[in-house]
Amino acid sequence: MFCPKCGTENSDANFKCTKCKQTLKTVTASAGSDPISTIIPYKNAKALIAYYLAVFSIIPCIGSPLGIAALVLGIMGLKQAKEHPEAKGKVHAWIGVLVGGLFGVVYTGLIIFGIVTAVLKK
Ligand SMILES: [Zn+2]
Repeated sequence: MFCPKCGTENSDANFKCTKCKQTLKTVTASAGSDPISTIIPYKNAKALIAYYLAVFSIIPCIGSPLGIAALVLGIMGLKQAKEHPEAKGKVHAWIGVLVGGLFGVVYTGLIIFGIVTAVLKK
């Protein structure tokens, strides 16, 4: 099983993690045995935050900074999901990267366009 704290692979017989001494629970024995973390990847906070930031990045006024933040956190979440498969959150991280990246870039572009247009009008 993988340690829920540090991600180190331990023998299933181990009661505690060999690296960080975290108590290993049989509930988190292997990836796929924890349906809650598939829907809500609470072990991959970066992916979860990226997902929510991406959802709110749809709002025009705050979409630019939120979208960029979602993109950055989404990439970090993807990295964490790759290093710690038991943390999950890959789908949430991808939504953060794609949706956040899209709205972040679009709204930032609109802001820059607005500023340039305003400056050129003078
Ligand atoms: Zn550990």
